[in-house]
Amino acid sequence: MTIREGSPTRRALLLDEMGIGPVWHARRQGMPAELVAPDAPDVAADVSALQNATHHELAGKNPSEFATPSSLGSTAANSESAPSALSVESSPVSNEEIARMDWTELQAAIATCTRCALCASRTRTVFGVGGASADWLFIGEGPGTNEDRQGEPFVGPAGKLLDNMMAAMDMRRGEKVFITNIVKCRPTDASGKDRAPTSAEAGACLPYLERQIALMQPRMLVALGKTAAVSLLRLDPATSLGSLRGRLHRHAGRPLAVTYHPAYLLRMPRDKAKSWQDLCLALEAEAGIAANADGDADS
Ligand code: SF4
Repeated sequence: MTIREGSPTRRALLLDEMGIGPVWHARRQGMPAELVAPDAPDVAADVSALQNATHHELAGKNPSEFATPSSLGSTAANSESAPSALSVESSPVSNEEIARMDWTELQAAIATCTRCALCASRTRTVFGVGGASADWLFIGEGPGTNEDRQGEPFVGPAGKLLDNMMAAMDMRRGEKVFITNIVKCRPTDASGKDRAPTSAEAGACLPYLERQIALMQPRMLVALGKTAAVSLLRLDPATSLGSLRGRLHRHAGRPLAVTYHPAYLLRMPRDKAKSWQDLCLALEAEAGIAANADGDADS
């Protein structure tokens, strides 16, 4: 039997392979009740409201909680959480220079970056994969062992799961979707194992991601995991992922959905259904934004 790309049957098979059920289908109009997470029923239903929403996640936050290198003073540099993370004085590229780069310059700058200490242990930087004008941007935490070797994000089992999740959304790696991480170099602990990036490392690398977003202008951002979410939203690192799911946020004027990291889902497969709900929420909103954009172009 030939199963057409984008067909409900194919999606059901992909979701079944991911261990997800029952199946939620993204609809193109309105907000199906089953897509709205029970802990946040009041957001994301209305795309126009979404577009006008204020960036409330930033309200009341102290910018120093997530400082970028140029704003990090001695306090951050001396903090125990990231004492070796920054080498701001030796930074060859400033935030202002990054903000003026084109795509090619950005790739070159990242490839030789020394803005934080992660440069010392990396094999390769991981810029991201996909087109420079993708509609969707998936953002993970940081490269792991395989990614560090291959220079590509989300390879290995977690990458395969992400590919399956995207396939269920009628997306494919490299097509209308860009995949990257909060940090472009692999963070490791003292024993050489993968770890999450510190806030300082994320802050050092974030200007690159911000420039990628500014150049790419994606319609929808998806934060994969807590590190990506709290970094992009400048939230307290102790914020729980569960408190961020089920609604859309705003980042750089764009909608941001939050869901679990595929590596977490491999460990906790029972949460795959929740992740699919998050992705359906994002699909729904992106479809509305695309429709509005088409309407504006036609008028
Ligand atoms: S993680 Fe980012 S800021 Fe740090 S060295 Fe790598 S590219 Fe530069």
